[in-house]
Amino acid sequence: MYNVQMKIDTAHTQSQQIVNSPLSAEDVINRYAHLEGAELLDALIHEVFPGRIAVSSSFGTESAVLLHLISQIAPDTPILFLNTGMLFAQTEQYQRTLQKHLGLSDVRIIRPDPDHLKAYDPDDTLNKRDTDTCCHLRKVLPMQQALDSFDAWITGRKRFQGASRNALPMIEHDGNHYKINPIANWSPEKIKTEFKKYKLPRHLLESVGYTSIGCFPCTRLPLSGQDSRSGRWADQEKTECGIHSPWAGDSI
Ligand code: SF4
Repeated sequence: MYNVQMKIDTAHTQSQQIVNSPLSAEDVINRYAHLEGAELLDALIHEVFPGRIAVSSSFGTESAVLLHLISQIAPDTPILFLNTGMLFAQTEQYQRTLQKHLGLSDVRIIRPDPDHLKAYDPDDTLNKRDTDTCCHLRKVLPMQQALDSFDAWITGRKRFQGASRNALPMIEHDGNHYKINPIANWSPEKIKTEFKKYKLPRHLLESVGYTSIGCFPCTRLPLSGQDSRSGRWADQEKTECGIHSPWAGDSI
C-alpha cells in the first residue's frame, strides 16, 4: 500500500485554509505548483476540486504509475478513457486489467459521436488522408464534451517524452479548465522503479518494443535513438493528437 499520509501533511495544512473558497488560476498555481506526485494529487482532488476533477488516461505503457497513485489517494476519481474505435485490442485488454488490479471504480469510456463518424469518416480511412481532422473528431471533441462536467483534469504527461513536452508545468489553466501534470518531472528511471516496487501490470505491446501507444493506424515502434513518442505519426510532423492544443481547422 502506498502511504501518502506523511508526505501530504504540508499540502493539507495549506489547502485546509481554502476549502470551498473560490481561487483564481493564479492562486491555484502559486499555492500548489511547487508540489508533485501524490502530494499534488491529494491536495487538488480532496481540497481544491472535490467532485470536479477527472483523470484522462490512454492506458498506455506508462499509464499504470499515475493510475496507481490515484488508486491510493481516491480510487473513485473519474478516469476518462478515450476509445477512438482505432485502439489496439491489447490496450482495451490492459484497461480492463488495470482497472481491476487497481480497484478503480469509475472508469468512463469516452467514444466519438457516431453522427460525426458517419458524416466525416464512414469507412474509417480519414486517418490516411487527414490525421488532424481524424484526431479532432475521434479524440478532441469527445474529450471536450466529457470534460464539460469538470473544472480540472489530470494527465500523465512527462517532460522527457519529447520536445513538445519538455517544459511542461505541474499546473496549467487554459481559460476553461485546469490541467494537472503531477508526474511531469518524473524520469524513465523513476517510472521503472514504480512499476517494480508496486508490481504493476505491463501493457502487452511493451514486450515487443512499443514505448508509446495510441491508435493502431498511427503507432509504430519508436525510431532508433529518438524519443519514446517517435513512433506516433512517425512519417508526419504531427506530434500531438490535439487534446492538449487549440484546433486550427474548420468547425465540425
Ligand atoms: S491517432 Fe490516427 S486513427 Fe487515432 S484519431 Fe488520430 S489520426 Fe485518427
